[in-house]
Amino acid sequence: MALIVHKYGGTSMGSTERIRLVAKRVAKWARAGHQMVVVPSAMSGETNRLLGLAKELAPSKLTDAYQRELDMLASTGEQVSVALLAIALQGEGMESVSYAGWQVPILTNSAHTKARIESIDDQKVRVDLAAGKVVIVTGFQGVDEAGNITTLGRGGSDTSAVAVAAAMKASECLIYTDVDGIYTTDPRVVPEARRLQTVGFEEMLEMASMGSKVLQIRSVEFAGKYKVPLRVLSSFTPWDIDLEIEAKSGTLITFEEDENMEQAIVSGIAFNRDEAKVSVLGVPDTPGIAYQILGAVADANIEVDVIIQNVSKDGKTDFSFTVHRNDFAKTVDLLKEKVLPKLGATEIIGDAKICKVSIVGIGMRSHVGVACKMFRCLSEEGINIQMISTSEIKTSVVIDEKYMELAVRALHKAFELDQPAA
Ligand code: ASP
Ligand code: MG
Repeated sequence: MALIVHKYGGTSMGSTERIRLVAKRVAKWARAGHQMVVVPSAMSGETNRLLGLAKELAPSKLTDAYQRELDMLASTGEQVSVALLAIALQGEGMESVSYAGWQVPILTNSAHTKARIESIDDQKVRVDLAAGKVVIVTGFQGVDEAGNITTLGRGGSDTSAVAVAAAMKASECLIYTDVDGIYTTDPRVVPEARRLQTVGFEEMLEMASMGSKVLQIRSVEFAGKYKVPLRVLSSFTPWDIDLEIEAKSGTLITFEEDENMEQAIVSGIAFNRDEAKVSVLGVPDTPGIAYQILGAVADANIEVDVIIQNVSKDGKTDFSFTVHRNDFAKTVDLLKEKVLPKLGATEIIGDAKICKVSIVGIGMRSHVGVACKMFRCLSEEGINIQMISTSEIKTSVVIDEKYMELAVRALHKAFELDQPAA
């Protein structure tokens, strides 16, 4: 008997019919002798619908008071889900009880719409489990010290589930979703993409941060910090498949490097189109330049990703970096206004038609020539690399957006990701 946390996403909870299937699946696990805590998302589309209503009525200035009400509103989606799931479980003859975040409580800070979990009191849940009940806890929401309802950011139910699993020291946290695991790359781009049976936690972190949107990135960080065994699997398998088979399906996120030793050097190809490139041309090559440019950007709360500075010529250099596309116009305006006159730079140019493609793999740590192979592959396809950035376990390139799919396909093939792992 083990304590297991299941998390079901919006599509899995999308209708009463789907909720009934979730209840049947959970009941199967409980009847097999496991203590079950379930963390569902709102029914699919519901959070968007609620936030859309708020938008219709929103004041022109989006104050803290407004953000507070957004959380009050958006959190109701999950409250509906937990109650319906508890009712469905009762319909399956199981004893079950649901809790909102504040009832547990799941304590967060007060950063409305992007709160962070600070602590979870597991007492109430333990008492219910001991009494043989299935406990259902809302995803996405918590409560701050003053009693205000908070939410954890879009996709935050993943983080709720992992945090509950960490607090309860669960044996495993199973994230049921509409895909059957983590793939070597997006199968919509490369049909030969393979599902990974295991993926290292650091690899997952890189992939999640680079646009592989299966899990909210914070949930992966949480799992890493508390070593929560995490599995991503499909909720679209028949609910009554053999539990042993189900328990081994999907992709397990591992923490032991040894387990990955026999894996491919590169585990996956990640990509995203969310960034834009900004270049400041002809800046004097003197100490403090990077600080002056990027300091102004950071002060405006804009996150910078890839950075590159050229060698200087006649005491002048060019400086480029990427930001999220949503921040692109703001960044260019800000630099034109604040940095251009002060630094005496000649020009600010921007390019939003870029994408970032990355190869990710723990094996890169101990193998040379991996990045080189990537560059050769891109050169053979005639793709120009605009920027490069590396970490121990990934190499990213910024290229023209129109070559994204070509690059991803070519790299997937070059690193033999379409072949079963040895
Ligand atoms: N319902 C929330 C959202 O749509 C949280 C979640 O689904 O994880 O973002
Ligand atoms: Mg999600």
